[in-house]
Amino acid sequence: MRIAIVSDVHSNLPAFESVMRAAERRGAVDAVWSLGDLVGYGPQPGECIALLRRYQHVSVAGNHDLAACGRMGTEEFNAAAAVAAQWTQERLSPQERSYLEELPATATEGAFTLVHGSLREPVWEYLLSGEQALVQFELQSTPYSAVGHSHLPFVCREEPGGMPRLRPAADGEAVELGDERLIVNPGSVGQPRDGDPRAGYALLEDATLTFHRVEYDIEATQRAMDEADLPVWLIERLSVGR
Ligand code: ZN
Repeated sequence: MRIAIVSDVHSNLPAFESVMRAAERRGAVDAVWSLGDLVGYGPQPGECIALLRRYQHVSVAGNHDLAACGRMGTEEFNAAAAVAAQWTQERLSPQERSYLEELPATATEGAFTLVHGSLREPVWEYLLSGEQALVQFELQSTPYSAVGHSHLPFVCREEPGGMPRLRPAADGEAVELGDERLIVNPGSVGQPRDGDPRAGYALLEDATLTFHRVEYDIEATQRAMDEADLPVWLIERLSVGR
């Protein structure tokens, strides 16, 4: 089984296409797990939903998915995110909207629990600290969980009797899945925030999970955002991965 784990695609089709092409160059992709925020911020929400749906896939809800389909208000969003959420909402077809409306908060796939933010607060909590990881491990009924939301790739091992640490995961880093319980974040496909503008994803092949970064046509996404009159700050941050 070869599974591509993607998160925070954020309507960035050139990034998502590049990730899927790169994953398929390594062998046939049997399934895609999407950890939420498939839409929001970027210019091609419908195309990104369609690309995911071409695969056997499992998909959980992110805050931007819920805002785009009207299941959640945008009061908690910053101004640029709220503008983009409104823009997205106006462009979704009824079928795309109902796809987002039906996304579950969590999913269990084999040894993994999938959730956008955390098991404590599925669409809102940014899992960034050892204390938060401790809570996640307590709530996690499977050996491993995969989260997104922070757009920061990391791996976190449970430390029996100690405080777990989140370690940033570099391009090409491989993690063997064994007895240790883990939390992983594959990073963001469509809006990386760790200073590396390349799209991030993870590939799960049997008992090995590998983090990857992929170059994509950032300017193509930026041009489409410019044409759509999306906020300049959202356009510019893609160049620097922040
Ligand atoms: Zn996001």
